[in-house]
Amino acid sequence: MKKIVLNEKTLEFQRKVEELSGENTAMCDQCGTCSGGCPFVEEMDITPAQLMRKVMLGQEDVLECDTLWICATCNTCTVRCPRKLDVSKIAEALRQIKLRDEINNLDIDDLPKEVLKELPQIALIAALRKLSS
Ligand code: SF4
Ligand code: SF4
Repeated sequence: MKKIVLNEKTLEFQRKVEELSGENTAMCDQCGTCSGGCPFVEEMDITPAQLMRKVMLGQEDVLECDTLWICATCNTCTVRCPRKLDVSKIAEALRQIKLRDEINNLDIDDLPKEVLKELPQIALIAALRKLSS
């Protein structure tokens, strides 16, 4: 089996995500239970377990995944995880890193007027809070 070695750059990214999330990704044994129970996994480009794996390995390309925006913080994975890890906190930390770089995933100007008229205000505010800096 090939040994995986983290370099300074990957370690720094891993530490940053762990610091922001308060989660210890080294605890994840990649059992896949989070992916199996996630109600939104079909909409994701990588599964919650893959998201955890990428952070464990300090792979910054995880920031380009749709999964971190799709996670609805429903906590189903946390309840089921044998290690009590919270994938939604990892997703939130990754969103924070993106948003600190002022990379928004929702721009109100991009929404058609008809959608804006129909959309409940509270849903719009919640989405803007989650998806924009
Ligand atoms: S359920 Fe927990 S331990 Fe299993 S893969 Fe998901 S985060 Fe890792
Ligand atoms: S918190 Fe996110 S990753 Fe976990 S089950 Fe819910 S949507 Fe899926």
